[in-house]
Amino acid sequence: MDGPDPRMIQLVMTLRGGGVTDFGVLAAIERTPRDLFVPGRFVDQAYDNRPLPIDCGQTISQPFIVAHMTQALELDDRCKVLEIGTGSGYQAAVLSRLSRRVYTVERYRTLSREAEARFEMLRLSNIVTRVGDGTVGWPEQAPFDRIIVTASAPGRPVEILAHLKDGGIAVAPVDRDGKQFLVRYERSGATFTEEDLMEVRFVPLIKGEARAL
Ligand code: SAH
Repeated sequence: MDGPDPRMIQLVMTLRGGGVTDFGVLAAIERTPRDLFVPGRFVDQAYDNRPLPIDCGQTISQPFIVAHMTQALELDDRCKVLEIGTGSGYQAAVLSRLSRRVYTVERYRTLSREAEARFEMLRLSNIVTRVGDGTVGWPEQAPFDRIIVTASAPGRPVEILAHLKDGGIAVAPVDRDGKQFLVRYERSGATFTEEDLMEVRFVPLIKGEARAL
């Protein structure tokens, strides 16, 4: 490497300007080359602060949203994290630098395989992938300290939230009034406190495993 990529410096400045103040999160973004996570034809836009298309008709989230969701999780290196919706693997890669282990579920086998290859290339050995339906969480590995859902659910994702530890934090986009809101949940016993963070636009969370791809 020939020093930091100026496009990366610009992106991190944009995120800071947008209210991402956690230095750990900014450092994790800075150490994660987004160009490795986007299709070849979009590499020149990899450091733009916008979502981009990936295989299987899905999208890699906007860096600003990745940073905000990560910041809202208040991670530390003891956290066992569940992600629903691996997609490109970019969000999982960022999370992996701030937590003990990341368990990530994706319904498209193609996307999961591609993400896994990227984790290997970046030597991110604390990410566990799985192909399947994330609407039911990951029962064999539950409970989790943190949960992040990166596809939008039609209502509070109760089955997934059931896998959150007491005192744990989750973030998820939820459909409401024809819009989507990023919601932060914090568990205290059987009670979940709920806070809207911002309006967002995610692909839908789809029940069941994908047949093809
Ligand atoms: N976190 C991703 C962005 C994911 S886009 C990234 O950093 O690139 C949302 C992803 O959720 C898509 O890949 C979609 O296939 C997946 N998805 C949708 N419903 C799902 C389900 N029920 N279980 C697992 N993955 C699901």
